Amino acid sequence: MATPPLPDLAIASLSARRRVPPPVNEPIRSYAPGTPERASLKARLATMAGEQIDIPVIVDGREHRTGDTAPVVMPHAHGHVLGTWHKATPELVQEAIVASAAARQDWGSWAWEDRAAVFLRAAELLATTWRDTVNAATMLGQSKTAYQSEIDAACELIDFFRFNCGYAEDLYGEQPINDKGVWNQTDYRPLEGFVYAVSPFNFTAIGGNLSGAPALMGNSVLWKPSSTAILSNYYVMKLLEAAGLPPGVINFIPGDPVAISEALLAHQDLGGVHFTGSTTVFNQMWKTIGGSMAGYRSYPRIVGETGGKDFIMAHPSADVEALAVAVVRGAFEYQGQKCSACSRIYIPQSLWAGVRDRMIAMIEDIRVGDVRDFRNFMGAVIDRKSFDRITGYLDDARANATVVAGGNTRGDDGYFVDPTLVQTDDPSYRLLCEEIFGPVVTAYVYPDDQYVETMRIVDRTSPYALTGAIFATDRQAIRLAHTWLRHAAGNFYVNDKCTGAVVGQQPFGGARGSGTNDKAGSKLNLLRWVSARSVKETFSPPKDYRYPFMGEE
Ligand code: NAD
Repeated sequence: MATPPLPDLAIASLSARRRVPPPVNEPIRSYAPGTPERASLKARLATMAGEQIDIPVIVDGREHRTGDTAPVVMPHAHGHVLGTWHKATPELVQEAIVASAAARQDWGSWAWEDRAAVFLRAAELLATTWRDTVNAATMLGQSKTAYQSEIDAACELIDFFRFNCGYAEDLYGEQPINDKGVWNQTDYRPLEGFVYAVSPFNFTAIGGNLSGAPALMGNSVLWKPSSTAILSNYYVMKLLEAAGLPPGVINFIPGDPVAISEALLAHQDLGGVHFTGSTTVFNQMWKTIGGSMAGYRSYPRIVGETGGKDFIMAHPSADVEALAVAVVRGAFEYQGQKCSACSRIYIPQSLWAGVRDRMIAMIEDIRVGDVRDFRNFMGAVIDRKSFDRITGYLDDARANATVVAGGNTRGDDGYFVDPTLVQTDDPSYRLLCEEIFGPVVTAYVYPDDQYVETMRIVDRTSPYALTGAIFATDRQAIRLAHTWLRHAAGNFYVNDKCTGAVVGQQPFGGARGSGTNDKAGSKLNLLRWVSARSVKETFSPPKDYRYPFMGEE
């Protein structure tokens, strides 16, 4: 019987072995006085600060305003309301599950190059016409300075989108060998279920990547953004829609994290979790998944990048000037609210006075305030809860250690915490062990001849292993650090600060209590969002069941 003719509207796919444009890191704009980008960003900040935005839940491409709302405020001027956001109802969460299943059928069957084109276009829009909007939203809603926002919301997110397309091309190109008369293939299928993406407040780019990376690989996603990054995350969602992302592929469901997680984590169609946030929350999610194992269709992929207690360790041969600057930038940029922020330093006695005095001078020079004033190096911490937690640590430091510089807070207009240097003689003091997530760095000064012993302390002091740095000019000291600190950090720096990982250059993630180390923005991460199918096609199958050895002598 003849094959029926294809319907007129059958989707054509190109007859070509397509390659995505080779990714390069997005150049960072300076926003220096007199530059056009500075004028343009300031204008967008002014208009956005004067607007009242009403942020909906987005399910299957449709906007829902549930009426259960919360305000969006500026952390550096918390009386200033930028708008309201609507919380997803349980019914909308269920609708999102249904919509994601339908969207996955279509989206997962697209040629991967067509999916990549959506993200490449999103990157291009973000690099051009959307840049100011996403940067201004990150500055106003999360209190990032122009530079901190630029390296996150613009450059890192553009890099995630572009590099992931390149990594997807590499991954799909990994194919098995063939035997005579046989063609073997690996089909990198999307997962058979939705991916639940849960993002933190501190990086706009992370929200875009937690939802975007699984979607690029053909999955559909339910994205629960952080309530304190809602403004920028909403614009990222709108950016993806503007780039041509079909309805239902990513569903934007802000709301009560506990209720939403309860509904999604135990659902039979949970294909995976893509989480970034605190270790406690991730552990709780993993526990819920463990308790729901009997009900799943497939084993869910669990990816979580979590907390850190990141260190800078100095050897007596370190360059003191470079060391002090690395600590100040690493500890205080974005108010210490980076998972990679330096929060403990180990300095040899012979260098301490030089490091301390340089740090005091820089701390006294640093301006903290409204991020719309570009002279400020630091803005506010994210919210009242965070402000109170950091204040508690500072009270503890005043009682049980020495506050060398900084230590003041003011919460009346914005949640401001001064950059602070604490010193302790107790290597197990809690400020050396616990994640503070604020601009507080604690120093432990060690005898110069105790270098290796002190590295053992660094390695054992905290349950985390995210980032760390060694400062030394003596090569043997660097070799020793690679040995003794090998498992203390998933991102390790030599003579550089422990923050500022760049997509494509230093794939990011830590081990131990810092997460599953699936390296955001790398092929390793994309691998978690596919389920490989091995296909063997035999061109001339045997027609006789008997093997030659069975013949008569
Ligand atoms: P968080 O854990 O408070 O929140 C993260 C996300 O989880 C948010 O969307 C939040 O609403 C949600 N959430 C909160 N409680 C939940 C619950 N009970 N069940 C399910 N979801 C819940 O973290 P945060 O304050 O937004 O971000 C800071 C933390 O994130 C720090 O610990 C930091 O180290 C970590 N972080 C890690 C990385 C990394 O790559 N390792 C990167 C950025 C941030």
